[in-house]
Amino acid sequence: MRKPKIVILGAGYGGLMTATRLQKAVGMNEVEIQLVNKNDYHYETTWLHEASAGTLHHDRVRYDISSVIDRNKVEFIQGTVVEVNRDEKKVILEEGELPYDYLVVAVGGESETFGIKGLKEYAFSIVNVNSARQIRDHIEYQFATYQAEEDKKEERLTIVVGGAGFTGIEFLGELGNRVPELCKEYDIDPHKVKIICVEAAPTVLPGFDPELVNYAVAQLEKKGVTFMIGTAVKEATETGIIVGKGEDEVEEIKAGTVVWAAGVRGNAIVEKSGFEAMRGRVKVQPDLRAPGHDDVFIIGDSSLVINEEINRPYPPTAQIAMQQGVTVAHNILALIRGKELETFVPDIKGTVCSLGHDDAIGVAFGKKMTGSTASFMKKVIDNRSLYMVGGPSLVLKKGKFNIF
Ligand code: FAD
Repeated sequence: MRKPKIVILGAGYGGLMTATRLQKAVGMNEVEIQLVNKNDYHYETTWLHEASAGTLHHDRVRYDISSVIDRNKVEFIQGTVVEVNRDEKKVILEEGELPYDYLVVAVGGESETFGIKGLKEYAFSIVNVNSARQIRDHIEYQFATYQAEEDKKEERLTIVVGGAGFTGIEFLGELGNRVPELCKEYDIDPHKVKIICVEAAPTVLPGFDPELVNYAVAQLEKKGVTFMIGTAVKEATETGIIVGKGEDEVEEIKAGTVVWAAGVRGNAIVEKSGFEAMRGRVKVQPDLRAPGHDDVFIIGDSSLVINEEINRPYPPTAQIAMQQGVTVAHNILALIRGKELETFVPDIKGTVCSLGHDDAIGVAFGKKMTGSTASFMKKVIDNRSLYMVGGPSLVLKKGKFNIF
């Protein structure tokens, strides 16, 4: 009898969790599993702000996929997904086609620019290892060029971050550590550097506890960050950005670097494949299948799960993507073995937002924390995510042990 074929698209948090859970649970000849990813490595998306600022080398945030999969049970295919042909039950890759019986779409998210003019052309986004390397090198290039040029352009030393959500704040925290190092390296007076965060919402970190938000703002201001709250980015240009509080109060900020960190949407592949989606995210059924599909599961940043308590979607997080991976592995096997499917219920253990290498804010297990305690917790969370995918050996290889 032909073995059921499971194809997993994306080896990020959700996809890799699905693959590693499945490989533990299946018998040797029970199913065929293929894992497809653009690169032959997995990267910790939640660490990319560090690689982008240059406080952590990009090789520290990635590891070989082959080091965590059991090649007797999972075939890894390096390839780029173009779309899913749902009618013919096959995945179209740039490199060929893959038929499937069960499909897991775990291709992550993309930066959402909300149609703001110039952002795609002139702003960077923290999305993968390549973009992180580019941001790090671009900032360093601006500092080096400023020092080398006769006619000094101080705007080269201005870094604008669009968005004071999780990603924006974590990146600002790292910049606060990196900029003094860069100033030293390139003999630049730190007072000449400007780090500006522009946020359209009336607060930093919307949804976070106000006391923790105040702490974060004060700490980042001490590191040299200026916040422009309730201010929208209207346009990005070759020389900086245009911001405004309303139609009349419009201002241009000249900047050598603009990083857009204000929005995430689902991967374009999802809409291209004809799944009904909101900003690229599919509102999945309680068992994580795409509505109207018995054989397609969608997880991670391309999925949308509603928090019934507040009737709003859960924010896309690695925490949820990994938990979904566990449920999907269970549910696919339940389908194959004729058992009951599980309902996905997120178990939010807490959220910790880093403010640099030794500072953070967060709530974990119902307790508020700041400073080195929160920073310690953040590293525990980072190490736990490695442990869940690759066990103690991956933690030893890639873990964060510089606790204070
Ligand atoms: P990802 O982990 O992003 O993986 C997607 C995978 O799909 C990648 O390997 C990619 O290469 C691959 N892929 C994409 N397109 C294709 C294609 N066409 N063909 C083949 N492969 C493809 N969440 C938290 O819970 N806690 C945090 O502290 C936190 N901090 C964050 C900090 C930053 C700077 C950022 C950017 C995000 C942070 N998040 C955090 C959010 C979290 O990283 C995402 O929610 C999570 O990565 C989503 O997991 P995923 O499995 O959907 O996708």
